Amino acid sequence: MALINCTECGKQISDKAASCPHCGVSVNAAPSQNTAQAQSTAPQQAVNYQQQAQAQQKSQQKSMMKTMLFSSLISAGISFLTRLFYRRF
Ligand SMILES: [Zn+2]
Repeated sequence: MALINCTECGKQISDKAASCPHCGVSVNAAPSQNTAQAQSTAPQQAVNYQQQAQAQQKSQQKSMMKTMLFSSLISAGISFLTRLFYRRF
């Protein structure tokens, strides 16, 4: 039984341990492959999040424009109707 350094927290753990008792990261499952997969998948996830955020911002801007147009139309209609109403009397 030998002691190795944890790849996550750097503390000494047994090389027979399946996971680090300090931070819980799994140590025996080929750590080099795991880090490579994490590095390859992380940027794609970040790009996806950015795209989702941009799409949400665009849809929010569209809905904001719709509500602003709607409220301006309503206020214009109300002023028009009040003018008609006061002209009759
Ligand atoms: Zn650890």
